[in-house]
Amino acid sequence: MKKYIDLHCHPFKEYFNNQDEIIQNSFEKGVEKMFVVGTDLKNSVEAKELAQKHKNVFPIIGIHPNDVWNEEIIEKLEQLVDQNVVGIGEIGLDYHYDNTPSKEMQKKCFIKQIEIARKNNIPIVVHSRDAHEDTYEIIKKYRNKYPNLIFILHSYSSGESYVQKYVDLGVYFSFSGIVTFKNAKDMQEAAKIVPLDLIFCETDTPYLAPTPYRGQINRPEFVVETTNFIAMLKNISVEELLDNIHNNVKKCFLKIK
Ligand SMILES: [Zn+2]
Repeated sequence: MKKYIDLHCHPFKEYFNNQDEIIQNSFEKGVEKMFVVGTDLKNSVEAKELAQKHKNVFPIIGIHPNDVWNEEIIEKLEQLVDQNVVGIGEIGLDYHYDNTPSKEMQKKCFIKQIEIARKNNIPIVVHSRDAHEDTYEIIKKYRNKYPNLIFILHSYSSGESYVQKYVDLGVYFSFSGIVTFKNAKDMQEAAKIVPLDLIFCETDTPYLAPTPYRGQINRPEFVVETTNFIAMLKNISVEELLDNIHNNVKKCFLKIK
């Protein structure tokens, strides 16, 4: 059977004083690849450094919507893109809190970062919270204009209503440990609908540990629980789900051999 893949994690120094051990342990416990995702300039650099240090760690760099206070930061991000960077993320829109950058600035910086991904022919990992209409409109516009541009919705949590709309656009979904929570019926329905050729699993380490580790600090190895749970939801074998996830990685991340 193929091994597990964590499409989205943040095993940064800020959260772990033993980050190398956390990463190595995960590889020993069934993880084959992990995608370390930046949210600001500092941890985007750290993602690249971790990828230099560990085989099968791949850096995705970007500025999170809660951190896009000005456009200059996006120019600085662009300078960090090199041949090892496999994607841009996590980027997008987050209207949940009041004390965050304006909607206008968020949209501007989202689009600027999409343009960086397009120029470099690498996929985009999207964070969207309480902003589904605007997120959908922007992704739709870009998918229609550039059909080869790949979008992956991370920790998908918009429930069932948008699933089919995104599926129709050929957008990928990455499910986090939330899907394993008892009260996450909406998301479980979403995971059932998403076709196998558009699905990923992730941990979003250190957040959102899946059942039975809920409340603990998450680690990439816990992607095993989320993947197994989704296979059960979809009434297929874990092997079949993993085959599809591996295939999806190949389709999206052209830089990974
Ligand atoms: Zn994240």
